[in-house]
Amino acid sequence: MPLAMMDEIIGPTRATGRGVGAFNVIGIEHAEAIVTGAQAAGAPVVLQISENCAAYHGALEPIARACLSIARSATVPVAVHLDHATSADLVQAAARLGLGSAMYDASGLPYQENVRATADVARWCHGRGLWVEGELGEIGGKNGVHSPRARTRPDEAARYVAATGVDALAVAVGSSHAMLTRDAALDIGLIASIHRAVSVPLVLHGSSGVPDRDLAAAIRAGITKINIATQLNKVFTAAIRDCLAGDAAMVDPRRYGSAGRDAIAPEVARLLSVISVGNVGQEGPPEPAAELSRDGRRRR
Ligand SMILES: [Zn+2]
Repeated sequence: MPLAMMDEIIGPTRATGRGVGAFNVIGIEHAEAIVTGAQAAGAPVVLQISENCAAYHGALEPIARACLSIARSATVPVAVHLDHATSADLVQAAARLGLGSAMYDASGLPYQENVRATADVARWCHGRGLWVEGELGEIGGKNGVHSPRARTRPDEAARYVAATGVDALAVAVGSSHAMLTRDAALDIGLIASIHRAVSVPLVLHGSSGVPDRDLAAAIRAGITKINIATQLNKVFTAAIRDCLAGDAAMVDPRRYGSAGRDAIAPEVARLLSVISVGNVGQEGPPEPAAELSRDGRRRR
């Protein structure tokens, strides 16, 4: 059951009207903690490696191999996915390394060029069994498609999916990347309209800024894949900051590294209880950093 293809996770989940949690990896501690959290929740999960993360490590291969290895020994299905690749070469590198899916992000290009480039990548990927996520960036504005004011038009989304052949579509419905607060206002009616117009699964990027109740509502309205990065970085960094602040003599990275890792796992399990189970009765604290700092202290 361990390393899974994206459609093996997305397909059955979507059929039951639930969501799939896709969490961004930074280092190996993130990957370990995300899988630990998914196992605790008893839910499948997606480990995502962004182009920026690959650049941080100098190459895709080291972090991709770590994620694949962790996925293979998991007790829940785990897919390893390339996130926000703007380079077709990186998508090909992902395929060579054994990743089963990729998001190709041509949203910075004008519509016709986005369609052409994404269709080329999708054709190449489908020839090798890879699942492809695309993004429609027409409405962009200064911050691109993930500006909180950007909106995907249902008719254009349907044309884009038909023209590119993508297996999933990232949509602009009110969320925004890298939000530190969880107060984004999603356009739930628009999600439902896009869902009616588009046959492939829909992906919500920038989900860290979306409160639990709205995540559940977005899934009910038709979102399947929920991408979360910043929220895990917040709890990871808060736990490490707290750990180091409490002990000026601490030098062993395993000590503060494990504090960060131990903080991510329960947050993943909690988010998956919302995303995969639809449980919104345990909304996280408004300022999770404080809560998790206390957790971190308890664990040491
Ligand atoms: Zn994104």
